[in-house]
Amino acid sequence: MKEEEWIPKTRLGKLVKKGEIKTMGEALKTGFPLREPQIVDILLKELQDEVLEVNMVQRMTDSGRRVRFAITAAVGNGNGYVGIGQAKGKEVGPAIRKAIDNAKTNIIEIRRGCGSWECGCGLPHSLPYTVTGKTGSVEVTFKPAPNGIKLAVGNVAKPVLTLAGVRDAWAFTRGHTKTTVNYALAAFDAMKKTTQMRVTDAQLQKLNIQDGIVVFPGEEKKDDLESELDEKSGSGYKGRR
Ligand SMILES: [Zn+2]
Repeated sequence: MKEEEWIPKTRLGKLVKKGEIKTMGEALKTGFPLREPQIVDILLKELQDEVLEVNMVQRMTDSGRRVRFAITAAVGNGNGYVGIGQAKGKEVGPAIRKAIDNAKTNIIEIRRGCGSWECGCGLPHSLPYTVTGKTGSVEVTFKPAPNGIKLAVGNVAKPVLTLAGVRDAWAFTRGHTKTTVNYALAAFDAMKKTTQMRVTDAQLQKLNIQDGIVVFPGEEKKDDLESELDEKSGSGYKGRR
């Protein structure tokens, strides 16, 4: 693989660059602040991004009309990790790139499971339990849905859950859900709640609760297999990526 140009400035960045931290889960568990988007680029190979909103803000000043763009963007690997970020700027392109970078440094690990009593398939395709997120006046509640229901949620929440890797869920909303930004942030807040609930060992088993990346049967990707093999070999080899 080609040599990386990135020279990390933070403690976490240095550990990732050296190969001492190999997974996003490990990186987040260190508790060190995640300030460099490159960390996420290295640790999550399947990362995707989506611009959720481009808001043009016009303002009159003494020298005339000034336009600025406020961007809200989301990133995720479609499998256990999602982030949302915002940025403002005079030009759309750079503001979008900044919002995506901010989304990367805000990335979180989510918890999935088969929480619908109507399902019981045992795969972590949905949420383990109901979670509610709130931002401004918007409140959104996501409930576990059976396998195959897909995302019965609003257009703003859908990319957030898709990037997070939640495949089946129902949503119930309150407040001004037309405010895209607050709706997206409320959905993100609900995703954070997935790992903030206390679960018993019995629930862990029954709902097949899993944090972060899950390899679904029949969907093994090369990257997942490689990192699994890395971990299993236990050779202590701190390789470059
Ligand atoms: Zn299920």
